[in-house]
Amino acid sequence: MTCEHFQEIILENLDGGAPPAHSDSVIAHLAVCGDCARFDAVQRSLDRSLAEALPVPRLSDQFAPALKKKIRAERLPWLWNSLPDWIHLGSGTLTTLIAAWALPAPFAIGLGLGLTATTWAVQMAVGALLEEADGP
Ligand SMILES: [Zn+2]
Repeated sequence: MTCEHFQEIILENLDGGAPPAHSDSVIAHLAVCGDCARFDAVQRSLDRSLAEALPVPRLSDQFAPALKKKIRAERLPWLWNSLPDWIHLGSGTLTTLIAAWALPAPFAIGLGLGLTATTWAVQMAVGALLEEADGP
């Protein structure tokens, strides 16, 4: 590993002023590499200073409920986006049942194919409208 790689690990191990939990390979490298040892010391010093200078923000009591509400609101697009599929499935099932119940077999097959094609076209149109409504 290069010094650059060790220094990336040193940065990843910083944790708000707590002593970094370096692996054995990093500790061994710091023992023989003055550049990385200085880098580690400077980074630890900066990290400690920042941790002391910047108070940890306290979240208001409303933060968690507001976040949960926002997450719930973002789940709705899944339902909205699957609307064309539900329209297709529902209308296809309905027309198949009506055709099977009301018509002789050759007419039922023809009607079923025609209505399936129609619902497919409606599904595509609704899907296009929904994509347009979502915007870029
Ligand atoms: Zn080094």
